[in-house]
Amino acid sequence: MSEIRVTAEKLVEKPLTIAELRAAVQSGTTKAVDLAEGYYGRIQAHNPLLNVYLALTKERALEQAARVDAAAAKGETIGAMAGIPVGIKDVLTMDGTVTTAGSKILGGYRPPYDATSVKRLEAAGAVLLGKINCDEFAMGSSNENSAYGPVRNPVDTERVPGGSSGGSAAAVAANLAVATLGTDTGGSIRQPASFCGVVGVLPTYGRVSRYGLIAYASSLDRVGPFAANVRDAAEILSILAGHDPHDATSSRLPVADYAAESDKDVKGLKIGIPEEYFGEGLDPEVQAQIESGIDGLRAAGAEIKKISLKHTRYAIPTYYLVATAEASANLARFDGVRFGYRSPKSTNLSSMYKLSREEGFGAEVKRRILLGTYALSAGYYEAYYKKAQQVRRLLANEFMDAFAGVDAIVTPTSPIPPFKLGEKTDDPLAMYLADIYTVTASLAGICGISVPCGTTAAGLPVGMQVLGPHFGEAAAFRVARAVEAAQ
Ligand code: GLN
Repeated sequence: MSEIRVTAEKLVEKPLTIAELRAAVQSGTTKAVDLAEGYYGRIQAHNPLLNVYLALTKERALEQAARVDAAAAKGETIGAMAGIPVGIKDVLTMDGTVTTAGSKILGGYRPPYDATSVKRLEAAGAVLLGKINCDEFAMGSSNENSAYGPVRNPVDTERVPGGSSGGSAAAVAANLAVATLGTDTGGSIRQPASFCGVVGVLPTYGRVSRYGLIAYASSLDRVGPFAANVRDAAEILSILAGHDPHDATSSRLPVADYAAESDKDVKGLKIGIPEEYFGEGLDPEVQAQIESGIDGLRAAGAEIKKISLKHTRYAIPTYYLVATAEASANLARFDGVRFGYRSPKSTNLSSMYKLSREEGFGAEVKRRILLGTYALSAGYYEAYYKKAQQVRRLLANEFMDAFAGVDAIVTPTSPIPPFKLGEKTDDPLAMYLADIYTVTASLAGICGISVPCGTTAAGLPVGMQVLGPHFGEAAAFRVARAVEAAQ
C-alpha cells in the first residue's frame, strides 16, 4: 500500500493519463483499490487547506475498485474508466449520499437515486471518491458563495479557483481526482478550468443528460468533465453523452469517439477570432497569452479568420435575466417541506416556509431569487424576461451565422486571471461582468472547451476558450489538442 501512496504522490509531478492508468489496472500492475486508497491519502493531506471535498464516499469507491480488480484479475476487459478515481460536483445526486448543492438549505439531504452522468461513469468502471464543493446552487464565479466555505486555488492558495465548479477544477489541479464532473450554466466549467490550469468541457445543450442535476437555470444548465489533459476530457465526454429517457432535452444524435477525433490535426480548419472578445476590460497579460496561442494554431496549419459577434455586449444583462428568472422558479421547491433544512423557529406553515428560506439560502441566492421574481412579475415580464429571450435568439443566430464560415471560434475564457479571495465579494456586479466571454455560448446552446494557454508573469494560469457549433465538439477537441500541444 505504501508503495502505491508514493505512486499517487508522484502523479502530481506528471499525472498519468486515463489510458495509462486503465492499462496499468487492466494488467494488474496497479490495483484500483490501491489507487483509490492513494487518492484518499492525498485528500486527507490536502483537503483541510483546499476545502475541495464536502463528503467522501469511500465505501462505495472501494467496493467498485475491488470489482474492477477482480474483473482485471480474471482477464475480463474492463471499462473505459475502470479504476479511475473521479470526484462529483455536489449539485449532482448520488444515491444515499448527502447532496447539498453548496447550500445550507440542502444540508443532510440524501437523494434516492444517481444522476445519469454519475451512473454512466460508474458503469464504465469509474471509482467515485466523493462530493465536491461549489458555489451555492452553482451561482457564482469564485466558489466564495458556498455555505461550506470557499475552495482555494491550488496554484496560489490566496486566490479563488473560479466558480461555480471551483472544487471540481481545483481537485484536478491538485490531483485529488484524475477527473471530475462539473456543471456550467454561464461559465461554471470553463472559467474555473481556466483559473486552475486544467481542461474543462461545456458540451452542447442536450448532449449530456441533466437528470439528477439540481437545477439552477434549466434552459442553460449543462453537465461536463474536467481533466488534466484534452484527451482525457474527450474520453469522458464520449461516456457521458447520449440520449437519456429521463431527460426530454437530451439529444438522440450519435455520439462520436471524441478522443479519436481529438487525435486529428488542425490543418485546414478555419478558426474565427471575434474582435469583440479582445477589447476593453481584457487583461493585457491574458491577451498576450491568447494571441501566442492563436499564433501556435496558425503554425499548426489552421486558417485564422477575423470575425465579429456584434451582440456580445448584450450578453451579460441577457444572461442575468434569463438565469435568475429560471432560478427563481426552480428554487421555489425549497421550502422546508420535503428537502433538507427546516427552521426550528417556525410556528405555523407560513412561518416554516419563510424562516426555512430566510435561514437556509445565502445572500447571493436570495439576490437572484429577487431579481428573477422581479423580471417575471406582471408588468415587467415583457420589458425584461421576454426581451431577454428575444436577445438570446439574436445571440444564437449570430453564432450560427459565424459558424457557417468557420469550424471553431477561439477567445480568452476569462478577461482576468484568478483574483484574490475576498477581492470581489463586495461587488456582485463586477463579479457578473467577468462572465462576459462565457455566458454567450451558454445562451446560444453551443459547445466549448477551456484549455490551458500559458501563464501570467506571476505564474497564474490563462485559459483559451474554444467554441464549436451545436454538436460540433469534435472540431473543438482538435483545436484544444493543438493548443495543448503547443504549450
Ligand atoms: N458565474 C455565473 C453565475 O453566477 C455562471 C455560473 C454557472 O455557470 N453555474 O451565474
